[in-house]
Amino acid sequence: MDLSETQAYAAFLGTRREELLERIAQAAKRAGREPSEVTLLAVSKTVDVPQVLAACEVGYEVFGENRPQELVRKVNALRGSKNVRFDMIGNLQTNKINKVLGHATLVHSVTSLHLAEAISSRAAARGVSVQCLLEVNVSGEESKSGMSVSEAELCVSKIGDLPNVVVEGLMTMAPAGKAGEARRAFAGLRELRDELRAKVGMELPVLSCGMSDDFEIAIEEGSTLVRLGRVVFDPSYGDAGQLR
Ligand SMILES: *Cc1c(COP(=O)(O)O)cnc(C)c1O
Repeated sequence: MDLSETQAYAAFLGTRREELLERIAQAAKRAGREPSEVTLLAVSKTVDVPQVLAACEVGYEVFGENRPQELVRKVNALRGSKNVRFDMIGNLQTNKINKVLGHATLVHSVTSLHLAEAISSRAAARGVSVQCLLEVNVSGEESKSGMSVSEAELCVSKIGDLPNVVVEGLMTMAPAGKAGEARRAFAGLRELRDELRAKVGMELPVLSCGMSDDFEIAIEEGSTLVRLGRVVFDPSYGDAGQLR
């Protein structure tokens, strides 16, 4: 990008961010919630460091990456930028855990007890503890990653007992393309959280759900963290894909 393109892109990011904050506030209001209960995470997996820097300039502070290598690269490039955090939102293999430790603030994608144990033991070796979300396949779609609802019920307290993992809440991905199914998945995530809270006494305050096409529905159903990629970074996205 040359300078004028960079400036035009930064202007787009700023305007779009204001629109998104307004839509988040409206969705929260419809559900009788405070806008401040919802964190806007910008998924930067499709853009490069200059675009992330431009996003920081207009006020974004929370970013998400789905590949360990890319997360580490961007964290290192953004070192020195104030108040910036990167979360790991994609599939995490055990052999990549050491890579993300110390770089990712919150790991959204703990998909099994086995993975949680591996994270805890590697974190212990470094004397740190890792904030995590359990990724749950609420819709039951075969193509979706995440543990089943019954698996989450079985292992949440075991994961909670691991010494170097802090379970902050739950994450899910909704089926694409259908508003009703998306709403059911988000509501299901909240209901699972309420059930686990009652049964095992874990607070699980974070519900990570909602993406570009469905984040307003997710907020209406209790999301505390929306993960937005295209609608943040892609000028051609508009609201064409928005589910209604
Ligand atoms: C890419 C991605 C997103 C963002 O998706 P958009 O539809 O571009 O908003 C959110 N969560 C995860 C896990 C992703 O991989």
